Amino acid sequence: MMPEWYQEKPLGEYENIYVVAATEKVQPKRTAAGGGITALLCYLIDNNMIDGAATSARDVEGLGGRIVVARTREEIIRTAGNEWQVLPFTNKLMETIENEDLKKVAVVGLPCQIHFIRQMKTFPLVESNFGNRVQFLISLFCYGTFAHESILNYIKEKHGMDISSIKEIKVSQKSVKFMGEKTLEIPFGELSKYIHMGCLMCPDYTGAFSDISAGNIGGKTIMIVRNKMSEEILREAEGSGYISTSKCDEETVKKIEERAVEKIKRASEYIPRLL
Ligand code: SF4
Repeated sequence: MMPEWYQEKPLGEYENIYVVAATEKVQPKRTAAGGGITALLCYLIDNNMIDGAATSARDVEGLGGRIVVARTREEIIRTAGNEWQVLPFTNKLMETIENEDLKKVAVVGLPCQIHFIRQMKTFPLVESNFGNRVQFLISLFCYGTFAHESILNYIKEKHGMDISSIKEIKVSQKSVKFMGEKTLEIPFGELSKYIHMGCLMCPDYTGAFSDISAGNIGGKTIMIVRNKMSEEILREAEGSGYISTSKCDEETVKKIEERAVEKIKRASEYIPRLL
């Protein structure tokens, strides 16, 4: 049921893997790692290569999320930060791109969202030129997202956290950190029962259908560059002083592969059980 290439190439096809950091030319405020994605989007927008970047932004309270299309570098910097929940992304995105008549959009999303948009670009399913307007797909690494209400109830009941005080939530590979009246860090495993059912069957950790996949590993932005176009853009962004890049070390690549393989195994286990 699962394509064989997932087992053979857990990270999908790629050209190179880099550690990417924003330079002083771009100063992201809330980035989870080195600010590489934000800086790259700033380069694309400053140089008129895109007219908008679609991504998600947290609401002021830090819990809910919404889709935003950032049209300026200031707006891109404001939306920088971690992802928290699955948002009704594609419907809203299609609507926004068409309503605002955007012609060249970069989309930053989760692997499942990027997969869907790639499919729309390659084999359009609906009568819309939405896919043609998306120029660049950036996928975030994703091990799963949580059922919002249930997880908040759990941390209230089990850990006595006042959920109305939560200002920010940081999701990493190992834990989820809730920051409010106090900081509560819970191991990812303890919360795994609140992962969305669909995520348990999802084999794609890095977003194999993106142009670039990016994730925070050890406090750094790691980018998996999947095609020549993306490689060129990265070189140009570096040449223009927006980012610095260095080859990712083998140990980190191995860590990402292990995580990807774990996710494939989880999906292989759950697909026959749940379908
Ligand atoms: S685990 Fe898969 S289905 Fe779930 S949010 Fe991440 S990419 Fe989407």
